[in-house]
Amino acid sequence: QPLPVQTASDAPASAALLARASEVIPGGVNSPVRAFRAVGGTPRFMASGSGPWLTDADGKRYVDLICSWGPMILGHAHPDVLAAVTEAAARGFSFGTPSENEVRLAEEIVARVEPVEQVRLVNSGTEATMSAIRLARGFTGRDVIVKFAGCYHGHVDALLASAGSGVATFALPDSAGVPRSSAGETIVLPYNDLPALEAAFAERGHEIAAVITEAAAGNMGVVPPAPGFTEGLLRVTRANGALLVSDEVMTGFRCSASGFYGLEGPYAAGAPDLFTFGKVMGGGFPTAAFGGRADVMALLAPQGPVYQAGTLSGNPVASAAGLATLQGCTPAVYERLDVVAHAIADAVASELSAASVPHTIQWAGSMFSVFFRDGAVTGYDDAKDQDTGAFRRFFHSMLGQGVHLPPSAFESWFVSASHDDEAVDHVIAALPAAARAAAT
Ligand code: PLP
Repeated sequence: QPLPVQTASDAPASAALLARASEVIPGGVNSPVRAFRAVGGTPRFMASGSGPWLTDADGKRYVDLICSWGPMILGHAHPDVLAAVTEAAARGFSFGTPSENEVRLAEEIVARVEPVEQVRLVNSGTEATMSAIRLARGFTGRDVIVKFAGCYHGHVDALLASAGSGVATFALPDSAGVPRSSAGETIVLPYNDLPALEAAFAERGHEIAAVITEAAAGNMGVVPPAPGFTEGLLRVTRANGALLVSDEVMTGFRCSASGFYGLEGPYAAGAPDLFTFGKVMGGGFPTAAFGGRADVMALLAPQGPVYQAGTLSGNPVASAAGLATLQGCTPAVYERLDVVAHAIADAVASELSAASVPHTIQWAGSMFSVFFRDGAVTGYDDAKDQDTGAFRRFFHSMLGQGVHLPPSAFESWFVSASHDDEAVDHVIAALPAAARAAAT
């Protein structure tokens, strides 16, 4: 039986677009994971999306389990979001002045995440973490940042060390082009390892401006913080005059109405000083935010000396999309996300078990990932120790049957509230063959 790898002949229009794209865009894509390098075959160029479905350039339909890597929590082209975007766009695309939509979006975020007193809107999660780090350095007067292996915080120079999925997929230790001086200000520690953190602070605590962590790691696959880990981060940072930055770009407004903080917080040892958000809060448009303690945020220009800016920041159309998406995230939406995610994950587990394929499924709210290995994954070394070949075969079988998974074994799977029973049944029906393919 030939391996079910989907190739150019399965997607001629996408293959033609990839050839054209490769002439003018490096690798033919504008973000590396889209190129399918980890799984092989031809990436699908999408022509449209509606609810839980994507339609590619050849007209083939897929149940979408990427959801734009998180933002599309209500599904594609949700009517309420579309109406808000259309209405905002009709009044102008960008003013370069303040406008009301950005105020409303900021108010919505502040209302939801209790420790966040103020936010500044930016255009991507990368900008949010980059700015949060500059602010933490400005506030503390220190330079060193601690991050955890396998956590991704965008392609910020200082944070591109051991950065999980994107780089893991390409088996790069780090990115070329990051100055040694910049990486030298970053300490990378194992995730979920408080003794390692305590040792780093014992040695260099007076130099450390901030610890940044994914509220629950999603970029090495889903690895939630062990019980007490976040409390420990708070305790150690507090004791040493460093800030804690909780990166909720992926988990924010997805794991609960107030993000992973809503599931795990409040904490006995205090609250993260700064948070970063993106993805869901932009509803599929390029907007993101960082925020937190008012006394820290007060250091930002124009009030304070830490410079940060953006031509399109707080864009009225993007803000309208984000606001409509957040307002659409009702309790019923979170209930549906849970039902859908568990229905799919349960079926994945039972079909992989039936085919004797080692696997472990881990969760953060309705975010889950399937590790092709036995045993719990608590950090990056565990995550890397899985059968990526089995994932590749599984992925291509699913793709051929009209289910688009994230094209890497190191990613969370994302569902939306628009995943109806038809979409879920379509995924479940594809699983037996995919599990058998994984086993071959
Ligand atoms: N932080 C986390 C936790 C992320 O998952 C990501 C993106 O996946 C980022 C930051 C960077 O966001 P963006 O891709 O919008 O720059």
